Amino acid sequence: MQHFKYLIVGGGIAGTTAAETIRKNDGEGTIAIVSDEPYPLYSRVMLSKPAFVRGEQPEESVWLKKPEWYKENNIAFIGGVSATALDGTAKKVTLSNGEDVEYEKLLLAIGAHARKWTIPGSDKKGIFYLRGLDDTKAIMEAVKTKKHAVLIGSGCVSFEIAEILRSLNIATTLVMREKYFSEPLLSEPEGKIVEQTLEKNDVKIIREMEVTQVYGGEEVSGVVLKNAETIDCDMVLCMIGVVFPTEWLKSSGISLHRGIVSNEFLETSIPDVWTAGDIAEYNDKALQETMLCGNWMNSRAHGEIAGLAMSGQRKEYKMVTFQTSHGFGDTIGFIGDTRALPERTVIYRRNPEKNSLVRIILRGATVIGATLLNNMAEMGIITKLIKEQVNVAGKAEEMSNPEFDLKTLIPS
Ligand SMILES: Cc1cc2nc3c(=O)[nH]c(=O)nc-3n(C[C@H](O)[C@H](O)[C@H](O)COP(=O)(O)OP(=O)(O)OC[C@H]3O[C@@H](n4cnc5c(N)ncnc54)[C@H](O)[C@@H]3O)c2cc1C
Repeated sequence: MQHFKYLIVGGGIAGTTAAETIRKNDGEGTIAIVSDEPYPLYSRVMLSKPAFVRGEQPEESVWLKKPEWYKENNIAFIGGVSATALDGTAKKVTLSNGEDVEYEKLLLAIGAHARKWTIPGSDKKGIFYLRGLDDTKAIMEAVKTKKHAVLIGSGCVSFEIAEILRSLNIATTLVMREKYFSEPLLSEPEGKIVEQTLEKNDVKIIREMEVTQVYGGEEVSGVVLKNAETIDCDMVLCMIGVVFPTEWLKSSGISLHRGIVSNEFLETSIPDVWTAGDIAEYNDKALQETMLCGNWMNSRAHGEIAGLAMSGQRKEYKMVTFQTSHGFGDTIGFIGDTRALPERTVIYRRNPEKNSLVRIILRGATVIGATLLNNMAEMGIITKLIKEQVNVAGKAEEMSNPEFDLKTLIPS
């Protein structure tokens, strides 16, 4: 049986950063990364970005690590193989190739998978998902010839993909369950601004609707909606969210909720097992909330904290992360906890001249998150307000004026 001092399941940014961090701290200990994808680390973020998908950027630019990097750092890369079982008492992981691997310290950085459709006709050719490099390659090939796309789902990735489709002159119909774009991640006024942009660029939006069936022969030729209407199309892009691939962990007894439950040190309920990245449902000390956070910056920072802990430097994770998304010249930014839960206060800073809208979320008298449409200039100061837990009691009215300088809220 193979034995590694450090075993990492998942070769994305969280897992790879952890391996890199461990190697800096421990030059000798054996490290292995098990990944169900065959590739070295690549930029998942680039997979929906127009310049890359349209082939305007060199294909090599997607690679963040070359195969040589693993060799030079003495990190075994076990690619194209899944972990299928964990025994936390015997400290071993079973792999899809039938092998068992023993570990001393284990990191579960297994990210998320694209949620797949199970409706009639969903096995036809011409239906695309987007999570991994192979998905993007398939989309890049398809957009060379396709003429009418139906795009399902109203997340940020859909916004980016809509721009790609329209720039290639592919007729695009967006079908979404929600009342407005990206509900409830965005507020209604924000969602409406994004919708205006989409419609101005000839994306047809069908709201509060679901697809019930895909029709055609071997290839897609259209979809049937819940109201029995049909839309002819030759490609369907199904962007209906993610699922967390934790099924194989259930028998291990590890604490699972939506993701893998951990504390602020990213330690799971099983000794010597950590989690990091999109899959980690962790105690966020900066926000004082339990969080699942699907962004690149968070995953990389988690990887570093987990890598440090595994190699002997236990540190709590405390960081305010942000993410941006772009489409048709509009930018959407997300900072911290953007959930406008009923007990929270929401402040809007609207500037119609700039087509910008910032929504700040308060818990009690402190800022815990924000969404920013076409106003990235305020990202830094809002991050600071969150980090420093600045008391903004009684300031809501001032803060709703877009001319009010948020910097003046920081005590000197
Ligand atoms: C199209 C797209 C665009 C995005 N754009 C942005 C953006 O603009 N900005 C931003 O901040 N974030 C963006 N994100 C999100 C960001 O990419 C993720 O937050 C980040 O990649 C998560 O990293 P991770 O290492 O936690 O997980 P992942 O990158 O998902 O890596 C986990 C790896 O583990 C593998 N795995 C799962 N189960 C097993 C198993 N049992 N055995 C072996 N391997 C397994 C997975 O297949 C995967 O290879 C985007 C995501 C997508 C899909």
